[in-house]
Amino acid sequence: GAPYDGLAVTMLVAGVVNAVGTDFHRNRVLQKLLTGRFNCCLGYSEPDHGSDVASITTKAVRDGDEWVITGQKMWTTMAHVSDWVILLTRTNPDVPRHKGLTMFLVPMDTPGIEVQPVPTMATERTNATFYDDVRVGDEWRLGEVDGGWAVMGVALAFERGVMGGTNPAVPLLRHVRDWAGGAASPDGGTMLQDPLLRERLARTAIANQVSQLLTLRAAWIAATGGLPGLEGSMAKLYATGRYQQAVGWFQEMAGAEGLLAFGVDDAAADGWIDYDARHAPVTTIYGGTTEINRNNVAERHLDLPRDR
Ligand SMILES: Cc1cc2nc3c(=O)[nH]c(=O)nc-3n(C[C@H](O)[C@H](O)[C@H](O)COP(=O)(O)OP(=O)(O)OC[C@H]3O[C@@H](n4cnc5c(N)ncnc54)[C@H](O)[C@@H]3O)c2cc1C
Repeated sequence: GAPYDGLAVTMLVAGVVNAVGTDFHRNRVLQKLLTGRFNCCLGYSEPDHGSDVASITTKAVRDGDEWVITGQKMWTTMAHVSDWVILLTRTNPDVPRHKGLTMFLVPMDTPGIEVQPVPTMATERTNATFYDDVRVGDEWRLGEVDGGWAVMGVALAFERGVMGGTNPAVPLLRHVRDWAGGAASPDGGTMLQDPLLRERLARTAIANQVSQLLTLRAAWIAATGGLPGLEGSMAKLYATGRYQQAVGWFQEMAGAEGLLAFGVDDAAADGWIDYDARHAPVTTIYGGTTEINRNNVAERHLDLPRDR
């Protein structure tokens, strides 16, 4: 099938371009993104700034009609196959940190960009990216000068609630059910007849429905012109937490065979349980960690005191 991660990130950038872009961005980038033949990646995180992304230091300095960008980004997933990066930069170091940021859409073939691979435990590749005197025209700026934080708000709301992977346990449930129908239970019969496994399958099916409804709520808000900043956090928090819990249950019940990877003899669910067990923790990190999303819900929904 089509690579879902690439599609999700590319469509979320398309949503950002649609929301805050100019005619130049629409003609040069959006039209191409909508063909499905081009990819984008997200250049926010840096080696020392992930959750506190407002503190990033990659700088963009104005030089006539151009900007000169210098710095390093970390975890730039898909950078090695992307046509553009949506890049968060610091344009003013002399104001409060949220107020000195500017977002750019930078073609990945611009001279001065280097991409280095970073492997992950989930077997997915991500990247470190380096920007050495990268020059882009002002027309590639996305949003206002020093208005990058507002653009980030749009991008994160779309990533968490609308285009992010908020239903990853749907294929997991299918794979485990198929496996359980043929796997022998220690108590006789198949694993599908095991009462505990049946209960966990049912709980996962219910959680998948709730995740889908939370995601649809966020998508509906976005589709009707709103910004699901809070609802996206809720959807991501719930879906990724339940996904991680479910795969933990199934790996435990599959025993040693649940630790075997794709292509290994006797791997439970042909290796999907092992794959999901590696992948699930990552979903609680990217796009804002569980703790950061909890802070968001605590402050914006429960009206608790600000974290910082
Ligand atoms: C596989 C993968 C792919 C990624 N892809 C991308 C990408 O394409 N583009 C991109 O820009 N980034 C990407 N990221 C980066 C991701 O967004 C960051 O890893 C994430 O925001 C956390 O930042 P950090 O790793 O620096 O951890 P830190 O911010 O150092 O956090 C460490 C721990 O402290 C907790 N913590 C931090 N601050 C607070 C707080 N205020 N309150 C409570 N707890 C807190 C965190 O929840 C976490 O548990 C990716 C990450 C991974 C792992």
